[in-house]
Amino acid sequence: MIESQLNCEVLVVGAGPVGMTAALLMADAGADVVLVERRNEPGDEPRAISLQDESLRTFDTLGVADALKAESLLDTGSRYFGRNERLLAEAKPVPSRSGHPAKSQFDQPILENLLFRRAVEHSTLRFLTSTEVTAVEQDDHGVSAQVSGADGDVRIAAQWLIGADGGRSFIRRAAGIELVGTTQPQRWIVIDLLGEKHGRGPFAEFHCDGIRPYVLVPGVKGRLRIEFMLFDGEDPDAMTTPGAIAELVRPFRQRLDPQDVRRASVYVAHQRIAESYRRGRIFLIGDAAHLMPPFAGQGLNAGIRDATNLSWKLLEALRGAASEQLLDSYQAERRGHAEKMIAVSQRIGRVVMSTGRVTTRLRDAAIRGISLLPPVHDYLANMRFIAPPDVSTGLALTPGVGKPGLPSYDLKAAVVGQPVGQPQVSDAAGRTGGLDSFVGPRWALVTLGSPASTDHPANGTAEEYWDALGAVRLQLLPAGSTAAACPGSQLVLTEQEPLLVPAGADGGLHILIRPDRYVAAVFDSQHELTVAEQLTEFIDPHARRTDNRRSGSAEPTTPGGHP
Ligand SMILES: Cc1cc2nc3c(=O)[nH]c(=O)nc-3n(C[C@H](O)[C@H](O)[C@H](O)COP(=O)(O)OP(=O)(O)OC[C@H]3O[C@@H](n4cnc5c(N)ncnc54)[C@H](O)[C@@H]3O)c2cc1C
Repeated sequence: MIESQLNCEVLVVGAGPVGMTAALLMADAGADVVLVERRNEPGDEPRAISLQDESLRTFDTLGVADALKAESLLDTGSRYFGRNERLLAEAKPVPSRSGHPAKSQFDQPILENLLFRRAVEHSTLRFLTSTEVTAVEQDDHGVSAQVSGADGDVRIAAQWLIGADGGRSFIRRAAGIELVGTTQPQRWIVIDLLGEKHGRGPFAEFHCDGIRPYVLVPGVKGRLRIEFMLFDGEDPDAMTTPGAIAELVRPFRQRLDPQDVRRASVYVAHQRIAESYRRGRIFLIGDAAHLMPPFAGQGLNAGIRDATNLSWKLLEALRGAASEQLLDSYQAERRGHAEKMIAVSQRIGRVVMSTGRVTTRLRDAAIRGISLLPPVHDYLANMRFIAPPDVSTGLALTPGVGKPGLPSYDLKAAVVGQPVGQPQVSDAAGRTGGLDSFVGPRWALVTLGSPASTDHPANGTAEEYWDALGAVRLQLLPAGSTAAACPGSQLVLTEQEPLLVPAGADGGLHILIRPDRYVAAVFDSQHELTVAEQLTEFIDPHARRTDNRRSGSAEPTTPGGHP
C-alpha cells in the first residue's frame, strides 16, 4: 500500500522515452526522483525510427546504447525519389565525431523496453505505473501533484516537476502554457513489418511519386517500416484491416503473412510548440513541449536533448547552486532549435507530400536544377538542412555584448555551444575508450597540448572554482605521447584527429565541457579566471548544500563502464 503522501525532489510525469531518460539521468546522479506513468508497460506504438548520435550518447550514459545498437541499422542516410522513381537527392551516411553513428534506424518500442526495464530495476528511482496525475499546483517552495493509481489517490510533493507527458500533456494545460501551431491535414498509415528478405541499402527512402507518397525504412533482423499517405475519404479503421494492409504492401510483399505485421496505425502530424518551456517550478520536455511531423526524424531526438539539457541543471538546483539564469537557459537553449526542426520537418513534408502531375513535375525539375549547384548539392548530401543544436543562446561563454572578450579558437571538434567531439583516448594504465567514458556526465576541464605546454602555473582562485564545481581535470596529449602514471588525469589521443591545438594558441588550451557534453568555453590559461567568473553567473558551487550523494565529484567511469 502506497502512503497517501509522497515527498521527493523531482517528480517526472510520463514514462515515454523522454521522461524515462530524464528520470534515469537524475536518479543515477543521486537525486530523489518519482516517475509516474499511467500505463503499466512500455509503449509499443510504431513511432520513431530515426535516431541521432547525440541521443545514442545519452543512452550510452544510461548504459543502454550497446543493446539498442545491436537492434539498429547503424550509419544510415536518406534518399528522395521523384516521379517515376527517379532519384532526386541523396544524403549519404555522414561521418560523426561524437563516437556514435550520426544517424541510425531503430525501433522505438525496443528503446522504451530497455529504458522501462532500467527504471523498474533502479535501486532508488520510485517508478509508479498505472498511475495518472490528475491535478497539479505550485508555489514558491515546491510543486504538489494529485495522482490516482491502483492504490487510490496519493499526493506527491516535489521541489521540481518535469512534464514529459506527451503531445496531449495534462501538465502543460495545468501550468497554463499554450501550445501554438497547426495540424497537418494529411494522414498517414504506418506499418511495421517483419520477415523482410529483400536486401536494401542503409537509407530511409522517401518516394514522392505524386500518386500516393510513401516512405520505406529498413531495419535489422528483417524489420521494414512502410508509411503511406492516405487520401481524403479513406477511413483509418478500414485502412488498418489485414486486407487493406496486404493490398497496400503488395508491391513490396507479394504474399503477406499476417504474423509479419508487427504494428499498424494511422497518425496525423502536428507542427506545434509550447509558448514557454517553464512555468515556475514546472518544466516541459519532449512532445509535451513540441510536436513536429516525422519527415526529418527529429521529435524524439529533440526530446532526448531536452532531457539531457534539463537534468543536470535541475541537479544543480537541488544542490542549491543554480541561478535563475541557469534554469532559464533550458528554454533559451532548446526552444529555438525545436522551432528550426519543426520548420525543416514541414519543408521536407511539403516536398514529399506534393501530388498532382504539374506540381510534382515542377518540383522534380526545380530540385534537379538546384542540386547541380555544388553548395546546394553539398547541403543536401551532408544533411546540412538538419541544423546542429547550438546552446550559444544560453550557457556558452564566448565574446559578446556585455561579456569580457574571450579569445575564440576554431577547434574543429570543440566549437563553443556545440557538442564536443569524442575522440578515442588511452590512459597511463593502457585503458582505451571514448572520452566520455573517462569523464562521465559531469563538468570537465580538458587541457590540450604537449605535457610541457600544459604545465602552466596554476591559477589558485580558478583551481578552487573547478574543484568546487566537481570538474574532472584532464590533459589530452597528442597521439604518440606517453601519459603520466597518474591514472585518469592524462589521456593520449589514439589518433591525431580531431582535437588539435590550433596554430597561434599560446601554450595549453582549455576546453570546458558541460555535463551534457556541450562545449561551454575554449580558452587559454590567461583567461581561466574570467571563465570561472562568468560561469558563476550560472552556477555558484560555493553555495552548494553539503550533499555527498550529488557532490559532482564521483569517480570517472571506467572505459565502456557506467556509473
Ligand atoms: C509515425 C511517427 C514516426 C516518428 N518518427 C520519428 C523519428 O524517426 N525520429 C524521431 O526523433 N521522432 C519520431 N517521432 C516522434 C517520437 O515518436 C516522439 O517525439 C516521442 O515518442 C516523444 O516521446 P515523449 O516521451 O516525449 O512522449 P510520449 O512517448 O508520448 O510519452 C508520454 C507518456 O506520458 C504518459 N502520460 C500522459 N499523461 C499522463 C498523466 N496525466 N499521468 C501519467 N502519465 C501520463 C503517457 O502514457 C506516455 O507514456 C515519430 C512519431 C510518429 C507518430
